[in-house]
Amino acid sequence: MNPVTESRSRIQAVVFDVGETLVDETRAWSYEAKRAGVTPLTLFAALGALIEQGNDHREVWALLGVEPPTRPLPLEPGDFYPDALPCLRDVAAAGLRVGIAGNQPEAAEEMLRSLDAPLSLVASSSRWGVEKPSPAFFEQVCAEMAVEPAGVAYVGDRVDNDVLPAKAAGMFAVLVRRGPWGYLGARRPEAATADLRLDDLTSLVPRILAAR
Ligand SMILES: [Mg+2]
Repeated sequence: MNPVTESRSRIQAVVFDVGETLVDETRAWSYEAKRAGVTPLTLFAALGALIEQGNDHREVWALLGVEPPTRPLPLEPGDFYPDALPCLRDVAAAGLRVGIAGNQPEAAEEMLRSLDAPLSLVASSSRWGVEKPSPAFFEQVCAEMAVEPAGVAYVGDRVDNDVLPAKAAGMFAVLVRRGPWGYLGARRPEAATADLRLDDLTSLVPRILAAR
């Protein structure tokens, strides 16, 4: 058995990023545009430019000359992409453990725990005190799920924050090409390092099962 096949054969858990992987952030960013006194188009374009340049999107407030938000808009059930909850349930139904761990405020955890899906892990960078792409974030995922890195498929929309550090940690990396980071990142050569590249979550479970 070659090393790649061996690592894929051991996937026991699927862990999801939050923003633009499970959650459509359009409502939140539109709210922030209004708060900042610019049109949504202006904010979205400025974000796209920063993302394409490889800069931290949080620089957008300085670019626009406005104060950053003091606290993020809370997640709401209607923010989830339509395929998100069915996919979480499909993962569990396939006999794999399910986790959600992303760069999120701690307050997001309560809402994520309330989802009607069997979750083995719900974690935020804010509670852990470490955020992606730090290797420590991915080590924490493995520690809390008690699974070796090769046993984890990490699913995210960002090549820089999700795919590359998950691969470096020894995980099976899935890139979901949606949202601004997904589309722009998918054009980068490093996107090819993802073990799986998908446009949504509808085929995630069969594709992972086929790769095991
Ligand atoms: Mg994301």
